[in-house]
This record gives sequence, structure tokens and C-alpha cells, in this order.
Amino acid sequence: MADVSERDALGEETGGSRFDALIRISHLLSATLELPRVLQTAIDSACDVLGLETGAIYELEAGTLVLGATTPPLPPGFPDEFRRAPLEDHPHIGRALATGGPVFVRDTSQGEFTPAERAICEARRLRTILYVPLLVEGQAVGVVIVGSTTGAERELTDDDRAVCEALAGQIALAIANARLYRSVEDARQALAEHNERLEVLVAERTRELAEANEELEAANAELEAMNEELQRINFELAEVSAAKSRFFAKASHELRTPLTAIIGFGTILGRGMAGELSPEQRLQVDTIVGAARHLLALIDDLLDLSRLEAGRVEVTLSDFDAGRTVEEVAEACRPLALEKGLRLETEVPQGGCPVRQDEMRFRQILTNLVGNAIKYTEEGEVRVRLLATCDGWIALEVHDTGCGIADDEIEAVFQPFSRAYAVETSGAVAGAGLGLTLVKEFAELLGGRVSVQSEVGRGSVFTVELPREAASGSGLS
Ligand code: ADP
Repeated sequence: MADVSERDALGEETGGSRFDALIRISHLLSATLELPRVLQTAIDSACDVLGLETGAIYELEAGTLVLGATTPPLPPGFPDEFRRAPLEDHPHIGRALATGGPVFVRDTSQGEFTPAERAICEARRLRTILYVPLLVEGQAVGVVIVGSTTGAERELTDDDRAVCEALAGQIALAIANARLYRSVEDARQALAEHNERLEVLVAERTRELAEANEELEAANAELEAMNEELQRINFELAEVSAAKSRFFAKASHELRTPLTAIIGFGTILGRGMAGELSPEQRLQVDTIVGAARHLLALIDDLLDLSRLEAGRVEVTLSDFDAGRTVEEVAEACRPLALEKGLRLETEVPQGGCPVRQDEMRFRQILTNLVGNAIKYTEEGEVRVRLLATCDGWIALEVHDTGCGIADDEIEAVFQPFSRAYAVETSGAVAGAGLGLTLVKEFAELLGGRVSVQSEVGRGSVFTVELPREAASGSGLS
């Protein structure tokens, strides 16, 4: 312990009042959490209690000493290297931090100093210096430096050490608290910024969503308008279709009656029942009857088509032998085949092929296909096969060695009034393009389907598959 006279010379307070001062400092330090203010209060108080004129607190940040506060304040223009310096340039501080205890230099003019240390001593005119480490849980967080510039060297008493260490403990704690507070503040700040960014993002997304919603609503309104328009057009189309069907039915009926009369009277005339005709007259009457029959067949097809479109075709089921029907249709068509020099052959299951189907429609399908086969074949043969499969179906195949149909036209020939390009342009074979449409519609009405395999120049095979027992009502597909 230094004696009383020495303490008085250095302006120290007595032990009791120093203790009071320490308590006062402790209150002062705990009154604020702002680090610059904590450090300034701490160094001012330390100099005050120890009775020294000059002091500084450096914080240690990753091996660098950073000036926190000085007393008295640094004059303007003080070099920057006094504010930030590597720890290795200040070995006295290094020693205090390494040992964890104060380092005292009684007379700076006698001590060994690095140029950096020397520069500070000279700038602050320091004679006696005390370095006190700031430790928090054994970790160095900085250093307190206090010194005398009076000229007289100062001894470090045990009382000074105790005061210094107590002060250092309080300052270190205050720094730790302030740092904690700063990191909490930083986190709070980061959170606030994050929140702000989030709010901006949410506002942006909300605006985008509102815009997208508006666009969707506009698109929806447009779709609804289109839908209404489509419904209106659909309704009009249905009206037109019904009107067309009514017109066909009416017109066909009106035409059918006089045509039947022409055919009837023509036949009577042709057979000489109303008086003998010359060969020339008979030829002309036969031509009239032939043309009238052709027209009647066309009108019948048109009538069927309009009934199908109107959904007014009923299926009339009966039990019959499909093999026999095939033979009968072939017999009816044979004169046409013979006329063209074609062979017409049939192949039906031996022992008959009983079915429960609409015989009239079955006959119509068959007549159309065999008629077409003869019509579009110039040489060779037409063969009709009827097969009964064990799963309750029959298959009707009409083979020919005619002109065939190109692949890209196969779908089209089943459309009403549609004919293959070569047939249509040559004009050699008459036809309205309705036969295959009716075949397809009737096959489906009877619960079956039609398909075709064809090769241009080699011939075609039309196949109609039907259930042996049709369900009454509409077809399967
Ligand atoms: P149409 O014979 O009155 O023209 P269809 O609907 O019966 O009408 O036939 C449509 C078209 O399909 C025909 O114009 C013809 O081009 C083609 N076609 C039909 N059957 C055959 C066939 N057996 N061989 C070659 N082409 C055919």
C-alpha cells in the first residue's frame, strides 16, 4: 500500500471514499446500455477515482485494438493509427491481456516501447502508465489505460490495483452488457428490416394477385359471353337442322308419290299391257323406269339420312337367318355383276346363321356394300363372306378387286355427299355419296361398327361387325 502523503500528492481519495466512488460508478455504468456512453463514463470515472489526468479504453475486436473513449477528448486531427491499431504493435497491452493482470510503467522515459507505443506516450505526454485488461468470463474484451502527465512518476499501490481491478471488472461487465444490448438491438433492427421487406413483398404480391384476379375476371366474362354466343349459335343450328330435316321429309314424300306412279305406269307400258310397243318405244320406256328407280333410291337415302339426323329411326328386331339374307341380296345384285362381267360369290356358315336383328337395315347395309363393290370394280370378282364368331357377333365382309380408296380419303367417304377424288372427277360412275354414310349410321344403330381396308388399284374389303342379338333402341357407339 502507498502511504498517505504519496496518495495525497497524486490527488487520490481515501479508501472509504474510493469505495463510495466505485459504487457511484457502478450505478452510472448500469444507467445506460449505449456502448459509447458506457465507455466514456467509465474512463472519466476511472481517471477521477485514481486521480490521474489521462485515460483511454480500447476494445479488442479480432486482434485489433479499437479506441472506445478517451479523457480528455482527443484533439482534432489526431492520427488514425491511435484509433485503430493491431494488438501486436502494443506489447504492453498484449502482456496485460495475456496475464490477465495490470501492467504498470512507472517512468515511460525509462521503459522499452515500440514506435506505436512511444508515439502515443509522446502525443499524450504520458509519464506513468497503467494498463488494465478487461475480461469477461476469462475472455479479453479490451483494455483500460490510465496515466499521469504531471512529470512525477507514480508508484502503483495495492489500493490502486484493487481499485483498478474492481473498475476493470465493472467496465468489462458494462461492455459485455452493452455488446449484448447492441447485438439484441442489431437483431431487432434486422428483424424490423426483414419485416419491412416482408410487408413490401406482401403488398407487391397482393397487388399482383389483385391484378391477376382482375385479368381472370375479365377472361371469365369473355368466356361467359362466348359461351352465351355459342349457345345461341347451337340453338340456331339445331333449328336449322330441324328445318332441314322437315324440308327433306316433306320434299321427299312429295317426290316419292309421282315417282312411284311413273315407275308403276312405266312398267305397265313396258310390258305391253297397255298395247304393243315398238322396240324403240320399249327402250325409251325402260330408260324412263330406270331413271325413276334411281331417283327413288336416292330419295329413299335422303329420307333415311334426315330421319337418322332427327333421331327418328326405330330398330325393328326379328329372328332371321343372316346367311339366307346374304344369298338373297347377292341374287338380286347378280344381274348387275353379270352385266359388267364380274364374278359374284358368297360364303356363308353352313347350317345357317340365326340372328336377332333389324332385317331391313341389315339388308340395306348389305345391298349398299355389294352395290358399291360392283359399281367400283371393272374386272375380277366381288365376294361376300358371312362369319359367325363364337363371342356372339357376326362379321360381314364384302371383298372386291376394284379401284380401291386412298388412305387419306377413307375417313371422308363415310361423310354425307362425299366421294373419292378420282371417282368424283372422272364422272364415270354416278352416285350421290350417301350410301356409306347410311351403312355406318345403320351399323352403329344396330350396335355394331364398320371398317375398311383398301389399296388403290387392287380392291377393298368392307367389314361390318354386328352383335347377333341387337339391343332394341339405339346403337352401341
Ligand atoms: P356413292 O357410291 O353414291 O358415291 P357412297 O357413300 O356409297 O356414295 O361411297 C362414297 C365413295 O366411296 C364413293 O364415291 C367412292 O369414291 C368410294 N367407294 C365406296 N365403295 C367403294 C368400293 N367398293 N371401292 C372403291 N371405292 C368405293
